[in-house]
Amino acid sequence: MPTSSPSELVVHESAIRANTAFFAECTGNRLMAVLKADGFGHGDVAAAVVGAGATSIGVTSIAEALRVRGAGVDVPVLSWTNAVDADFAAAVTADVDLAVPSLAVLHAVVRAAGAAGRRARVHLHVDVGMGRDGCPTEEWTALCGLAAEAQGLGTVRVVGVMGHMSCADRPEEPQNVRERLVFRNAVRTARRRGLAPAVTHLAATAATITGAGRGFDLHRVGAGLFGIDPSGTSSALRPALSLTTRVVSARRVAAGTGIGYGHDHVVPRTTNTALLPIGYGDGLPRAASGKAEVLVRGRRRPLIGRFSMDMVVVDTGGDRLPPGETVTVFGPGSDGEPTVADWARWSDTIEHEVVTRIGSRVARVHRRPDGRDTALEAPHA
Ligand SMILES: *Cc1c(COP(=O)(O)O)cnc(C)c1O
Repeated sequence: MPTSSPSELVVHESAIRANTAFFAECTGNRLMAVLKADGFGHGDVAAAVVGAGATSIGVTSIAEALRVRGAGVDVPVLSWTNAVDADFAAAVTADVDLAVPSLAVLHAVVRAAGAAGRRARVHLHVDVGMGRDGCPTEEWTALCGLAAEAQGLGTVRVVGVMGHMSCADRPEEPQNVRERLVFRNAVRTARRRGLAPAVTHLAATAATITGAGRGFDLHRVGAGLFGIDPSGTSSALRPALSLTTRVVSARRVAAGTGIGYGHDHVVPRTTNTALLPIGYGDGLPRAASGKAEVLVRGRRRPLIGRFSMDMVVVDTGGDRLPPGETVTVFGPGSDGEPTVADWARWSDTIEHEVVTRIGSRVARVHRRPDGRDTALEAPHA
C-alpha cells in the first residue's frame, strides 16, 4: 500500500511512562508534567503521564492547555507565558490555572474571570534570577497586594507561587543559593499579604535531579519525561523517540564525485550512496552536515555533503540499498543507532531543540506499552 510519508517518528510511550514514574517517585508524587511544544515534540502524552504518576500538567499557551483539557485529562493544568490579550476567559471556563507574572496580566485575568462568571485559579510567578519571565522582585509586593485584594473580592484564588531557576544544571553555582533565597522570600511576602498558596514550585528537570530546587511542593518536569537530563548526571532516563526514513534511490558513485550543493564532500573512493527523503525542512539540523551518521543494516554510516531541505545522502560503502529500505536517523541507541544526544552534539545544540523541531511532513506513530500503534496528527501550531 502506498504510504504518504517515507519518514516516521515513533513515540515510545513505555519510555515516557518509565521516566514519569521515576520523577513521581523522586518528587514524592508532586510532579507537574510539562508538556509544552507539543509535548517536547512527542505529541499528546497527557493521559500517559497522568497514568504514570504525574499529578498536574504544565504548558505555555492557553491553546495547549485547552488541548490537554479536550483530551479529557482531569488534573490541574497550568498555563504560563501568556500575553495580556490572551483568551483568559476561555482558560477560566475550562478550569485552566494561569500563571500571573505582572499587574497587567492580573488585571486581564480578573476581567476574564468576571466575564466568565468564575473564580480564576492563579499561580503568581516571581523572577528569582532568570532575568527573563516572571515578576521582577521590585514589583512583587505590589503584585501580591493586588492579588490578595482580588482574592478578597472573589475573582481569583491564588493557589500557587512559582519561580524558575537559571543555573540548576550546574548545582555548585552560587546563583542557585541566591535564587532559592529570592524564592523563599517571595513566598514569605505572599503569605504576609494574606495569601495562602497551596503549592510552591521552583524546580524543573535539572533542579529536580541535582536537588538544586528541592524543598518546595511541586516539581515542573518537562525534558526529563522525554529522557533528557540537562545536568548530564542521571542514567535513569530513557529516550522516547525513534526517527526512521526509507531509501528513495541508490547509486554507485566513482572516486572524485562531488556530493550535493557546493561539493562540500568529494568521495575519496568509489562507493555506494543512497538518497534519503528527509532534510533540514523536516528538522534535521543543517549544522550537522559533515558530521552526522545514520544506522544502515546495523552499522553506522556517514551522511555526506551539505544537508538539503528535503534530502540527505548517506555513504553506504559496499552496500547498495534497495529503494524502500529503512534507515534509522536516531533512536534510544540500544541497537547502535545514533541518539538525539548525538544529533545535538553534531549540530552544537541541546537535545530539546532536536526533538521539538521534527517537521510536520514526518508521520507520527504513538507506540503503546502493549506494542499497539496509533497514528498521530502532525503537530498543531
Ligand atoms: C520549560 C519549563 C519547565 C520545564 O523545564 P525542563 O527543564 O524541561 O524540565 C518548567 N518551568 C518553566 C517555567 C518552563 O518554562
